Amino acid sequence: MIVSEGTTPKRRFSFRSDRLCLDFAATLMFRGTEQPQELLDSPATLSAWALGGAIVSRSIACNGNDLAHAVELREAIYRLAITRITGRASASADLRAVVNRHGRRSPVAVVLDSEGALTRSGSMAAVLASIARDAIELLGGPDAQRLRQCGRDGCTRMFVDRSRGCNRRWCGMRECGNRVNAATYRRRKHHDPNHASTRFLGTKRENEGDDR
Ligand SMILES: [Zn+2]
Repeated sequence: MIVSEGTTPKRRFSFRSDRLCLDFAATLMFRGTEQPQELLDSPATLSAWALGGAIVSRSIACNGNDLAHAVELREAIYRLAITRITGRASASADLRAVVNRHGRRSPVAVVLDSEGALTRSGSMAAVLASIARDAIELLGGPDAQRLRQCGRDGCTRMFVDRSRGCNRRWCGMRECGNRVNAATYRRRKHHDPNHASTRFLGTKRENEGDDR
């Protein structure tokens, strides 16, 4: 799902990782490159992200303190998750303390309104608590076995691989898988124009099966 929200209509947020906490971790894009891209560049943008992700049903107030807490939580989630994926050691006690501190707070309230519709409400602290709880359930639960990072160079988005064969490679077919396939096609066409089309079709079908 890709949405444009709130005070920054041209900004596009994407929710495709299958877990709220992973979509949140992906709000810093192109990690480890010379040009990382920060999507949460203001309190208003953080508020728009929460609404765009349907964590709350209506726009909520957000200040600079909330934004600082959000970035701290996001980085802790990212580092804990990537440690889980790579198996590398990290200062996980400090990171766990950050996630647990947010997770102990009251999460977003979910109620049925007078029309019988689901409504989510709460402060930005509650939004962060909901994200932290999702991270705790992911990292400490069975889905941790299916935690992956996108296979496209430069994309650092993580996702939960729910494919039957546990062979999903891309965070999203449209966002990354098709780009890799197109690049592969161009490369093969350059080296072997007689067989490029056939090979590309085979590669594409194979990878479409990987993703959802
Ligand atoms: Zn990707």
